[in-house]
Amino acid sequence: MIKEVEDRLPLSIDWEDWFQLCCPPFDEPQALDRFECRLPLATDKTLELCAGLGATATWFCLADQAQRHPGVLREIARRGHRIGLHGCTHRRVFLSDRATFRADLVTGRKILEDIIGAPVQGFRAPEWSLRGPAVDYWEELQGLGFHYDSSRAPLAVLGSTDWPRGSYQLQEGFWECPPPVVGMGIATIPLWGWGMRLLPEAWLRSRIRKLARQKAGTPLVLHPWELDEAQPSLPHCTLGHRFAHSAGLGGYAARLLRVLRGLQLVSIEAYLGLS
Ligand SMILES: [Zn+2]
Repeated sequence: MIKEVEDRLPLSIDWEDWFQLCCPPFDEPQALDRFECRLPLATDKTLELCAGLGATATWFCLADQAQRHPGVLREIARRGHRIGLHGCTHRRVFLSDRATFRADLVTGRKILEDIIGAPVQGFRAPEWSLRGPAVDYWEELQGLGFHYDSSRAPLAVLGSTDWPRGSYQLQEGFWECPPPVVGMGIATIPLWGWGMRLLPEAWLRSRIRKLARQKAGTPLVLHPWELDEAQPSLPHCTLGHRFAHSAGLGGYAARLLRVLRGLQLVSIEAYLGLS
């Protein structure tokens, strides 16, 4: 049952490093050794922003990064945030068959739970990749006892503009919490990433407040690297990737403080009333 409190939205953070695009060579296991590790530093900046907003969040974490930085993960949890699973690695889910996906869910959840000593109840696929051949894979989540998914982006290319825009139950007791979008048809745009970094602040503020008042339950989405202004430039990527990854990074933390001020931002677990 979604709790009824005004101007309240979930906040989610996809815990991955600055170079972790969902395409080769960035999604290969050796990428974690090949590129500079900036995740602990970016995590500190994100924790600081959350503290400034008085927010708690759900952090969707990669199991391979958690194994490298268990102390960082424990510190996130110690500060009152909740931990969800973002996969064993940052590869698109639809590249795996269903049995491999299920096995990865079991492995990844256990790695995170063993580190934090608390249950992991939610999942978000890298790059919203519960789509195409993996569009029904969410059924595995429910079968394994997860309580919600947050992978079905109501956008063209990354998902479908036909999918609902607010939180809803895919099946009795199993929630889908899609990320927020605005606009219609092919003009639908994300209210995260470049959308949040570049669109006019007053307009964003009013759209996000409207979502909160409507009790849309759409988790705002942030990546730690978006707060790391000193990160290196991404090598060998497309112009589209470079735009989505780099545009508007300057001063983003201050922008978020202005746009989100006064909202009550909570973890998805708290929003859904999960224990
Ligand atoms: Zn991701």
